[in-house]
Amino acid sequence: MSLHEAVGLRRLQKTYVVPDRTETTVQALEQVSLVIPPATFTAVVGPSGCGKSTLLHCAAGLDRPTAGDVDLLGTRITALRPAQLAAFRARHLGFVFQENNLISSLTAFDNVALPGRLAGRAQPRQKLMDILAAVGMEHRAPLRPHQLSGGERQRIAVARVMASRPPLVFADEPTGALDIGSGEVVIQWLRSLTAQGTTVVMVTHDVGAAAVADTVVVMHAGTIRATVPGGNPKVIEEHLRAVRAPVAGLAS
Ligand code: ADP
Ligand code: MG
Repeated sequence: MSLHEAVGLRRLQKTYVVPDRTETTVQALEQVSLVIPPATFTAVVGPSGCGKSTLLHCAAGLDRPTAGDVDLLGTRITALRPAQLAAFRARHLGFVFQENNLISSLTAFDNVALPGRLAGRAQPRQKLMDILAAVGMEHRAPLRPHQLSGGERQRIAVARVMASRPPLVFADEPTGALDIGSGEVVIQWLRSLTAQGTTVVMVTHDVGAAAVADTVVVMHAGTIRATVPGGNPKVIEEHLRAVRAPVAGLAS
């Protein structure tokens, strides 16, 4: 495994063919290349429709790029067969998404237990309950997702990643459906993961959340426009304003 790279995107291209309309294609990613060092927190920002989710889904092996390659932890996942890819994801990757995070037929507890079971590393009940307690959700363990609020579901999704401690964590708008307090808990938890060696990649609309990252990738129209250090929300906002400028009012 390369010591300098946890995630490597090489000239990624993603073309969607819009169903029912012949020849209509959407170029969601155009020649996107990006290297993310291990144990860092990267935020991806940009106007709605610029390709953030497509980038994240291709990087995390949830979707296949039309062209280009993705290397994760030294493995070229774009060369893996579907079963190999599923096994790689189960072993190395964790996800926190805005919605559809949890499996609706399973209780909160079983959702948290699932990744360990899938990876062949089932964990003791008490350890999983301790993790649920860490996100304030131990009293919700027997409930199913539809019995939980959006914020509670997201805390369960966080607990699920905490339980499996994967080396790579991908998050797409993890705070999008949350109140400010729950959102801050999620961002600070993502931030804390890098100290344990985890590499975190997060898509967000929230400039304040992006500023918590080490590096902020600014996208526009399927390309990376800028890569800037985190820390200062004003700097990120300026970059976003620059890419929004030509279609002010339409984008976002
Ligand atoms: P973002 O997350 O930045 O809002 P997306 O990555 O979701 O943007 O989408 C990028 C572009 O690709 C948009 O124009 C979107 O409409 C299009 N797109 C995304 N998914 C599909 C799909 N399954 N079929 C067709 N077009 C899609
Ligand atoms: Mg998106």
